[in-house]
Amino acid sequence: MTEAIRENFMSVQQKLYEGKAKILYTTDDPEILLTHFKDDATAFNAQKRGQITGKGEINCVIATQLFQLLEAQGIPTHFLERPALNQMLVKKVKILPVEVVVRNIAAGSLCQQTGLPVGKILPTPLVEFYFKNDELGDPLLTRDRLLILELATPEQLNQLKEQALTINQILIATFNQCGITLVDFKLEFGVSSNQELLLADEISPDSCRLWNQSETDPNRRVMDKDRFRRDLGNVEAAYQQVLERIMSIRW
Ligand code: UDP
Repeated sequence: MTEAIRENFMSVQQKLYEGKAKILYTTDDPEILLTHFKDDATAFNAQKRGQITGKGEINCVIATQLFQLLEAQGIPTHFLERPALNQMLVKKVKILPVEVVVRNIAAGSLCQQTGLPVGKILPTPLVEFYFKNDELGDPLLTRDRLLILELATPEQLNQLKEQALTINQILIATFNQCGITLVDFKLEFGVSSNQELLLADEISPDSCRLWNQSETDPNRRVMDKDRFRRDLGNVEAAYQQVLERIMSIRW
């Protein structure tokens, strides 16, 4: 790891935080952090744990490609550079404790909580906010709860929704180009030292539901973390397929 960083005239200082899928390190620039993507996989609030070989590299490369594509279309992100396959240099931000979920097709908790059938195309994209809090099990928030808890300002909340919908349009078109349907996905945002709201964390098969358009079988079409969650097998192969298709896009 240090070799790649040294080439960038930047040294890793210390581990700042270790999460379920990534480790964050400080660098000698106080405004820049290094994210190391791990092969570890967790689901159901970390009750299910495992490893997906090569996931760290695959997700980091996919996320890099998508961040660059979004930046090119005017979405500010925390991405700076990818010094190694599984490492990303990012702008230091204060992450808002809110998970922004965008849904185009009903799946997962939306179906469990509302009874909507899996696969139902939603009339308009649905933007939801979840409290990023493992102890509470990441509960769904209402707008008023989010504001009462001061998880974001009203201005930030409007911006989050607007950005999420714009990102959704860009990602739908991008995945469509490679024969993949974007069912739903989760975003995280952070505030930089100059108070800019930046898209942060990652966009990858860990954080999106992606269905292969050339498969109709509900299990075979899954190209995302649901393969791990639901023990569908061939997780690495599915992630690798997403990577290959994303990298083949010209933009
Ligand atoms: N998601 C995520 N991290 C979370 C919760 C959800 O990346 O902590 C993603 C998930 O992969 C899916 C979308 O957000 O693409 C919606 O997830 P859902 O609310 O259906 O939750 P699930 O039942 O999948 O946990």
